[in-house]
Formats: sequence, structure tokens, C-alpha cells
Amino acid sequence: MKFIDLAAQQKQIRPQIETNIHQVLDHGQYILGPEVTELEKRLATFCDVKHALACASGTDALLLSLLAHNIRPGDAVFTTPFTFIATAEVIRLIGAVPVFVDIEPDTYNVSPSKLEQAVKALEKTDNRIYPLPRIQKAEAEIKPKAIIVVDLFGLPADYDRINAIAENKGLIVIEDAAQSFGARYNGKPACGLADTACTSFFPAKPLGGYGDGGMCFTNSDTIAEKIQSLRVHGKGANKYDNIRIGINGRLDTLQAAILLAKFDVFEDEVRMRRQVADRYTQLLAESDLVVPLEPRGFESIWAQYSLLARNQDTRRTIQERLAGAGIPTAIYYPIPLHLQTAFADLGYKDGDFPVSEDCSRRIFSLPMHPYLTIEQQERVTQTMIDVS
Ligand SMILES: *Cc1c(COP(=O)(O)O)cnc(C)c1O
Repeated sequence: MKFIDLAAQQKQIRPQIETNIHQVLDHGQYILGPEVTELEKRLATFCDVKHALACASGTDALLLSLLAHNIRPGDAVFTTPFTFIATAEVIRLIGAVPVFVDIEPDTYNVSPSKLEQAVKALEKTDNRIYPLPRIQKAEAEIKPKAIIVVDLFGLPADYDRINAIAENKGLIVIEDAAQSFGARYNGKPACGLADTACTSFFPAKPLGGYGDGGMCFTNSDTIAEKIQSLRVHGKGANKYDNIRIGINGRLDTLQAAILLAKFDVFEDEVRMRRQVADRYTQLLAESDLVVPLEPRGFESIWAQYSLLARNQDTRRTIQERLAGAGIPTAIYYPIPLHLQTAFADLGYKDGDFPVSEDCSRRIFSLPMHPYLTIEQQERVTQTMIDVS
């Protein structure tokens, strides 16, 4: 059994992928060719957002968004410690300071009430209100500027509450939708839930290519224009007129051509993913594992189907049992970011974010992709049910 079966998907769409690749080989516009523009148009429509800007990865999408919103050294950017490294890495890379906020225990997404506490703690420079980074003097005067909200495992965060807090405090909201392209929140598509959103086309993501890729989404003409400039070395009127410092962050035309073929079947795959997830939840109803919650009004795209075991030992036993039966599992994420060596200079310590720490010890993910059969799923759940 595969954790994510890209071969099963390819079998459905191989002829269209080949046609699209051949078209690029024929016209030869390998950089920002017509397929890139077409992909941007189709995804902007799908997400109901005015602008979609393709870029080289989900990480670049986050970096470009921070740069476009003028986040600078000394700015504080709130985010979750229970996410992939890229979310907070880009904040630190540009010299800004990640201020971590713990998650909700049932959705694994950032907690709006703890976000309020963290903002207050920072405003009053009082880490008795909420744990703050314990950083060098030069950085001590960090100012609240933005939030990167992650839609973890494909489930959107609670944007009504988060956006309200942000508006009240004058903070920019960036949606890290690397895992949630195709999800919905109160009827609205993911990638359109904040000031700017970022997704990833890494092969394992819900809409994955055959290599790296990403996209920024925004309704702001100004931000869109800046991202367009920033992804081509800060270009002005043309690429030899440079008006700001940027990066080489473009999406390859070939990758866009592949993604267009994959996007043709994406809406079917959304339905199939949701069916697969529902089936897992039904099959596990009697187990004492904690199954993922999908609150009313939220529609996850199920980038991962993640469960909580009773404790770390039970998790190990379940994973070993499944591995023995040829069923792969994964742990997202075994070390919360505040305890990663890369962020040691922020001075956070064990115990600062207890919910993230607890989840990192108990969580694991099952094979999840649109082409998983009922028989396969039954084999997964039968194999683990009597050890859970
Ligand atoms: C995958 C991922 C990213 C980074 O995307 P890449 O395309 O791999 O650079 C960022 N944030 C989250 C939450 C992710 O899952």
C-alpha cells in the first residue's frame, strides 16, 4: 500500500499530461509561458480570488507574501509551532521574529483565544500573559505586524475569529494554504480567506505537480503587482529595470502544463478525498483513537488523515503493527517548531506550548489519497483496531 498513490492518479490522466508537455516542447516558452498564465486564471477562478501568482514553491509563496506586505527585521509575525518548518522559516529568514501561538486540541489549528493573549503579551512585553520569544536586546522591541495562519492537514483555521482579531490590532493575515487548496470555510474556498494566501504544488499536496511549485492569491492589486515584480528579481518596467530586491521565484511552464492536466480531475478528487476520509472516520468510530474533527461549516481537503493515539507508546505499537502489514504511516510533526534547533535563538522552552507538544507525541497519519479503495481502508483499520 502507498501512503500517497501518485501512480494510481497518473494512470487516469497520463495522456493529458503528455499532450500538455508536448505543447510546451512545441512552443518552447519555458519561463512564464502561456500555461503559467492559464493555470493562474483557472486557480484564481476556482478560489474566487482576483489575482493568482504562480511561483517556484510553497516556501517562495510565503516568502514573496511577507516581502510584498513589507514585513521587515524587527517585526513580530505570529504563527503556530505545529506546522512544517517552512511556515516559520521564512519569517526568520527575512529577519523578522516568529511569535508562536499554541493550537486548538481538536483541529490542530492556531487558537484564536491564545492569539489574543499572545498579542496582548507582546504589546505589554509581559511573558507572564503568554510565552514570548526570549531574544537578544537588539530585537527586544519587536512590533506585532502579521499572522501566518496554517490550514493544517487541509482543514481551514477559524478565519472569522482570526481576521476579527487582526483587524482590531491592525495585523496582516497570511493564509498558509499549502495543505488546504480545495478546502472550504463557511462556503468560501481556501486560498481566499485572508489578505494573501499561499499554496504549494509539492507532489504530495492535494494539488501536486511533478516537482516544486507554488502560488500566491490576493484580492489586492498592489500586492499582486509587487509579487509579480518580486518573483522576477524585483523587476520594474522590464527585467533589466530593477526597482526592489527580489528573488528568482517563478513557476516553470512545464510544471504548469502538468498541473493543468491534474487540475482537470481535481474537483472529482476533492469528492473522492472527502469520501475516503468519511470512510476512515466511520470505520474507526468504535476505536479509542481520536479521529479528526471537521467542525460545522468547515470542509477539509484531507491533505492528511491524522489520528491521536492514547500516548507515545501506543502510537509506536500501532505504527509497528501497520508497518508489519505493509501499511505506511507518517508523523506530522514529531518536533514542534519552538523546540527545533533552528529556532533555538528564540529561547522558547519545553512546556511553552503544551497542546502542540502533546500532539507531537501522539499524532500519526494514515495512507490518504483519492484512489484508496474501501478494501484497502478496511485492511488499515482492521490491522490497528485491536492495538489502539
Ligand atoms: C508543504 C508546506 C509548505 C512548503 O511548501 P513547499 O512547496 O514544499 O515549499 C509550507 N507550509 C506548509 C504548512 C506545508 O505543508
